[in-house]
Amino acid sequence: MKAITNYISSLFLFELFKGLGVTGSYFFGRKFTLSYPEQKAPVSPRFRGLHALRRYPNGEERCIACKLCEAVCPALAITIDAEPRTDGTRRTTRYDIDLFKCIYCGFCEESCPVDSIVETRIYEYHFEERGEQIMTKQMLLEIGDKYEQQLAEDRAAQANVR
Ligand code: SF4
Ligand code: SF4
Repeated sequence: MKAITNYISSLFLFELFKGLGVTGSYFFGRKFTLSYPEQKAPVSPRFRGLHALRRYPNGEERCIACKLCEAVCPALAITIDAEPRTDGTRRTTRYDIDLFKCIYCGFCEESCPVDSIVETRIYEYHFEERGEQIMTKQMLLEIGDKYEQQLAEDRAAQANVR
């Protein structure tokens, strides 16, 4: 009996149509894939991408060189040198992050008392030369300046869910 069923099944290509049915259901169904980079997935305000150093609205650096971020970094990716300014405030003279060491844990931004070091939504970057993975203070400040509005909105969104 089973042989007859198999014969009829193969004669009318049941297996083929069954397979095409599965293909068709995915072809016309809801799509789960994106055509990256033309299409991009939504990014959470808590996304931990490339770092940035922020400033206050008056242009002053937020960082007070307390070195908490350097101390808390489990990957020893942050290197800070600091000295007092003529006005008595303490500021960094060097703030480097080695992105090859960084594991994007977010501890640095969690530890910062003045919301200076943050992780942005930027995840599209690459390096072509040796040493380019070191993000200097100037580079971090430039990223902060460029994305300040987004960073402020993301920080506000995070504060609202805490
Ligand atoms: S995200 Fe984590 S590993 Fe990367 S610099 Fe900050 S504390 Fe260090
Ligand atoms: S970025 Fe924040 S935690 Fe790190 S040294 Fe500056 S003020 Fe301190």
